[in-house]
Amino acid sequence: MTQSHEKRIDGMTTKQTFFGLLPEEVKETCKDRGIPSFIGDQVLHWVYNKNILDPAKMRNIAKKNQEIIAEIFDFSLFKSVSSLMSHEENAVKNNCVLFDNNIVECVVLKEKKYNTLCISSQCGCPVDCKFCLTGVIGFKRQLTAHEIVAQVVYSHSIGYAITNIVFMGMGEPLLNYENVFKSIDILTHPKTYNISKRNITVSTSGYMAGVERLIKDERFVNLAFSVGMADPLRREQIMPTEKRNPILTFIKVVKEYQSMHNRKLTLEYTLLENVNDSEFDIKSLINLSKYLNAKINLINLNPHPKIPYKPISVKKLHQIRDKIKKEKCPVTVRYKKGQDISAACGQLGESYL
Ligand code: SF4
Repeated sequence: MTQSHEKRIDGMTTKQTFFGLLPEEVKETCKDRGIPSFIGDQVLHWVYNKNILDPAKMRNIAKKNQEIIAEIFDFSLFKSVSSLMSHEENAVKNNCVLFDNNIVECVVLKEKKYNTLCISSQCGCPVDCKFCLTGVIGFKRQLTAHEIVAQVVYSHSIGYAITNIVFMGMGEPLLNYENVFKSIDILTHPKTYNISKRNITVSTSGYMAGVERLIKDERFVNLAFSVGMADPLRREQIMPTEKRNPILTFIKVVKEYQSMHNRKLTLEYTLLENVNDSEFDIKSLINLSKYLNAKINLINLNPHPKIPYKPISVKKLHQIRDKIKKEKCPVTVRYKKGQDISAACGQLGESYL
């Protein structure tokens, strides 16, 4: 084998974690164990097309080979999972207990014709945005590629075929670059779910080195930038990352990145009453949107007792939206889905508390 692969995090099995492997690696591993590589294709088909994770049920594979497959690969997703459906039945939150008892959450957002999965890239988050519950719980550890892909596999297994993925769950994805992009390579592969790269969005709090690496690697994705506040002088109050990743430098790097491809850029803006909702704040946001040629997505804060801010009124939210529209900047309002099950934006991490 050309490279070493992930093993399960609790070290209780020496098998290779299946969902952290690209199809080519699955086949190569089969070959190393004397199984023809077409059997690797059959395994991939059972897993990703038929949701069958037990080799003994892969009917067109000989019993002897089923046994070897079961010896080589670990198909287990999580230690346990509990799922909660929102009252409006448009969001399902999965609390996934990992094998070392850490917990990650992912949320299926149901649309009429497709399902989006809001996925986690880290257990907790080190970035500490003051309006986000995941920031409150702090950083536990990185997720492996297997654990990221497993969130999608689990959602499929409970009946939600996932067509769109947003890395907007727990964690700053660009701080877990290797595993996040390995998982994207796996999920977009024609022999797995074949999810379109255009349907994948990576959200960042403005981690400069991450976008510089995207430029160097020529990795082009839809990017969402969580602005917090466009005014550099006050941004640090709600986003301490401003100290190391100043917005004025960051946006120049993003501008360069955007000039290299035609994927979408969205500015995520969480509205906090009397903090970032003034005329000046919104004007600064509009200027940023014009400079970067980016769509604005307004998110009213999802309140939580651990978060020291309040949302703005619906009337004000609409006024801000209309003001942005008047300036001819594309704008959307993200209406709350799953707030009753703490599955809405910035609310992930409840199970830790
Ligand atoms: S908003 Fe994102 S980057 Fe900021 S603390 Fe929450 S999860 Fe981390």
